[in-house]
Amino acid sequence: KEFRNNVKPNWCPGCGDFSVQAAIQRAAANVGLEPESLAVISGIGCSGRISGYINAYGFHGIHGRALPIAQGVKLANRELTVIASGGDGDGFAIGMGHTVHAIRRNLNITYIVMDNQIYGLTKGQTSPRSAEGFKTKSTPEGSIESTLSPLEIALSAGATFVAQSFSSDLKQLTSLIEQGLRHEGFSLINVFSPCVTFNKVNTYDWFKENIVNLEQYPDYNPHDRVVAMNKIMETNGMLTGLIYQNKERKSYEDMISGFQAEGLAKQDLKLDAAQFDKLVAEFR
Ligand code: SF4
Repeated sequence: KEFRNNVKPNWCPGCGDFSVQAAIQRAAANVGLEPESLAVISGIGCSGRISGYINAYGFHGIHGRALPIAQGVKLANRELTVIASGGDGDGFAIGMGHTVHAIRRNLNITYIVMDNQIYGLTKGQTSPRSAEGFKTKSTPEGSIESTLSPLEIALSAGATFVAQSFSSDLKQLTSLIEQGLRHEGFSLINVFSPCVTFNKVNTYDWFKENIVNLEQYPDYNPHDRVVAMNKIMETNGMLTGLIYQNKERKSYEDMISGFQAEGLAKQDLKLDAAQFDKLVAEFR
């Protein structure tokens, strides 16, 4: 099970996204996937390149649109394991509408967000995840907007799996991605993934000082939504670990009446050539 390919990532040395790539590759192998049973769909941004760095089916989509494509892939062939990925600008700004509805729809997809709290690819502008007062070229006097809390939004939208991790904690990150892949529904895994080139505030050291690891709370119950919401607010969204999981709610695929276990892409259309051409013509 080799999820590495021979493409050399062109991320900056030290970028947090390298660890996310490694964690996905390890987690995919650990849960027993084969390259041909995994599809990685990404948006636009430095992190969006990840779909090209993993030996699996890949689709580098457009800005903020990883999730619509990932959902289409899953519905067309539910036998594929589908990972969607992108950055905080991609998923929580232009793509936020899709993120919220994908969460509440609950298709069996693992969404991994590389959250560096800045726009890296476009050379460092304030993102929805940047803190108030954060100074960049787009906010030279400091951001006057409040910081978006993806964990609170995910819980409010009916998420069935919410986790958060840190690029420096490869063991935890790999374990959470494994749990997300095994979860029967939509899993959101937000990853603090430092942009070493443009974000000089939210550095590796800064995250190490500010992260609250849920391992500190052995009695924490990740199946209680109210507890999860309180803990997110109490830690100002800085906690890492499995924050919430609901194993009771069925996935979207399992709730569609008559939706077969075999992927649509593999099913016999039972059409002759003329009928097939007629069908295709209807979609032109
Ligand atoms: Fe990573 Fe930032 Fe470099 Fe982009 S600009 S590759 S996010 S370190």
